[in-house]
Amino acid sequence: MLAKIQEAVNTLKSSKNVLAFSGAGISVESGIPTFRSDGGLWNTYDPELFHISYFINHPEESWALIKKLFYDLLVDAKPNPAHLAVAELEKMGFVKAVVTQNIDNLHQAAGSQVVHEFHGTTKSVVCMQCGQFFLTDEVNIETMPPRCKKCWGLLKPNFVFFDEQIPRDVYQKSAAAAAAADAVLIIGTMGAVPPAAYLPVAAKQHGATIIEVNPEPSLYTAEITDIFLQEKAGVIMPQLIEALKAEIGLN
Ligand code: NAD
Repeated sequence: MLAKIQEAVNTLKSSKNVLAFSGAGISVESGIPTFRSDGGLWNTYDPELFHISYFINHPEESWALIKKLFYDLLVDAKPNPAHLAVAELEKMGFVKAVVTQNIDNLHQAAGSQVVHEFHGTTKSVVCMQCGQFFLTDEVNIETMPPRCKKCWGLLKPNFVFFDEQIPRDVYQKSAAAAAAADAVLIIGTMGAVPPAAYLPVAAKQHGATIIEVNPEPSLYTAEITDIFLQEKAGVIMPQLIEALKAEIGLN
């Protein structure tokens, strides 16, 4: 592993524009389960429940489930050493952007400044009638289904349900970040959810070197990964930072 960390350090050191691309795995050590792994959400709940059509047709049931699974679970979650390491890589000038598939706000809580939330966030909601956005903390999500303060329309979590489009703005910024990257640090994602999954592939096609952190091989590992750090993100990311600091004389 030491040789691989050194290889990753050399890549980061020689890169001008590193994109960090994260998935559910980076937040596992913050106590948030992934969807697909053992004990993940899909073992207990039918993914159909998270389709936009189910939400529109059964807003009360859908909101009750979403509140229990996402809002109540995420409320006390704190960034772990992997989120902190990504933020530090940005402060050190290596990481230029984070594209995350997560909706948990933990990259921002760790201090990352440039974060593109590809699948949205639990931190805000949007009225399906008047289009107004509100911070989740500012609305009542105890009474089901939550309603808009202005027009009494149905509020929707500001994250992407199955069968919903990725908002154009975040899509374009994420695609631009992937195109500009000379290295991508993929952390904790299987690479199974399109179109997010294509971003590292697009970066690779533009010539980026791919460093991947995951305790298990993903769909990327055999296809595009150049340096595979097979370990939990919260364990390996601080080691990577320490080795990088030693290399550039910051220790
Ligand atoms: P995923 O591909 O995003 O994540 C699972 C991956 O994480 C697997 O490859 C697994 O091996 C890896 N992993 C597990 N523990 C890890 C650790 N300690 N360190 C690094 N990697 C680890 O797949 P998913 O769970 O099916 O998610 C589907 C979608 O739902 C994605 O958009 C995902 O981001 C989102 N989601 C978000 C959250 C969150 O906001 N925290 C939680 C669950 C799912």
